[in-house]
Amino acid sequence: MQPLRGTKDILPKDIKMWQAIHTIAHDILQIHNYQEIRTPIIENTELFQRSIGNFTDIVNKEMYSFCDQGQRNITLRPEGTASIARALITNKLYTEKAINRLWYLGPMFRYERPQKGRQRQFHQLGIECIGSNMPIADIEVIKLATDILNKIECENQYSLEINSIGNLNEREIYKLDLIEYLKKYEYELDKDSKKRINNNPLRIFDSKNLKTQEILKNAPKLVKYLSRPSLEHFETICEHLTYLNIKYTINNYLVRGLDYYNYTAFEIKTKQLNQQNTICGGGRYDTLIEQLGGPNIPAVGWAIGLERLIILMEKNFNQKVQQNTIYIAVEDLYQVDVLWDIIKVLQEYQFQFELDLSNNNLSKQIKRANQLKTKICLIIGENEIRDQSITIKWLETRTQQTIKISNFRKYIEYLKNF
Ligand code: ATP
Ligand code: MG
Repeated sequence: MQPLRGTKDILPKDIKMWQAIHTIAHDILQIHNYQEIRTPIIENTELFQRSIGNFTDIVNKEMYSFCDQGQRNITLRPEGTASIARALITNKLYTEKAINRLWYLGPMFRYERPQKGRQRQFHQLGIECIGSNMPIADIEVIKLATDILNKIECENQYSLEINSIGNLNEREIYKLDLIEYLKKYEYELDKDSKKRINNNPLRIFDSKNLKTQEILKNAPKLVKYLSRPSLEHFETICEHLTYLNIKYTINNYLVRGLDYYNYTAFEIKTKQLNQQNTICGGGRYDTLIEQLGGPNIPAVGWAIGLERLIILMEKNFNQKVQQNTIYIAVEDLYQVDVLWDIIKVLQEYQFQFELDLSNNNLSKQIKRANQLKTKICLIIGENEIRDQSITIKWLETRTQQTIKISNFRKYIEYLKNF
């Protein structure tokens, strides 16, 4: 049996890295007063059509959609922001707090051709800072992405690119000029780009086609269409990033794949991966919440693709080998009530232990403890049961001592401080 194409099992040997990411993100975000939110994996298809946009790759060809038994159009979430905007509206979170700082981690689904760093079920860690239109919110959000990457020991392995894509009005005027320019080259553009000329011309900048890229070099530039407030918002961000010593480059062609962004758009890329080199994408989305039927609330956020982050992380991640497990060998598994008293103490003092479940003879069980490279093997044999005692065998030094069960707690307490 194989898993579905584009899906992967995350095995115990890899789970340490996932847990490390969760812990690091949780700790950093908690300090900054971001709170975790978990939304359903399924939503009405319309939510994504209305937010991400009908002419984007995600909505056009990548959605996992189906009709449920009640004939509702349902989609497995392809990203987190739309669901969070929906949850904010549904639960009126904005009435409780002027600013909602939220984060999430969970699986996302896109019907794409699987490659290294591209799956059909993948995971994103994301944050949203909802309720402020100030550039300082953008800076906080960008800083947090770099804080997390640095803590995961990915420092110097990534580069931050930012751009301002202006507001809707500025983009509308720009679009007209861009369309006029592109129309002249209509027959030289790649197939997808040609289709986008009228519907979503900005997305043509995302094209990887070389000929299209060539044509775009002389296209009108969006920065030229930005008004003073838009430019100031962007300049403030750049100044603060410089102050924070966060390196960035301005990429005037960065547009991002989703429709809901305005002003700030940014991506964090890595040199380590060839094709799938974007590990984090984000930006400001001041109109999304209103567009979905909520009040007019500005917001900014990002999402990190965890599978891609893990490819980066694997090289540096220092897996501390857990060899502090205590092995418990028991001669007669049917007899020993005392076993539960011992386990209770280990649990209380938070020792990791493994109970032998084989019913093999004691020497075989001790051999197994040796194979697992545990330091200590607790032995409860016939003699021990008769004497109300327990033998503690130190496997490295091959020394052992037998103590009364009644002294076991004291021994473990001593071990814990040892
Ligand atoms: P790409 O250009 O690689 O398709 P995107 O613009 O579609 O990325 P976003 O929607 O911005 O990606 O999602 C944010 C991040 O989620 C990406 O930067 C990437 O790290 C990750 N991501 C997106 N799609 C996938 C996928 N199919 N498999 C694994 N990770 C993904
Ligand atoms: Mg994509």
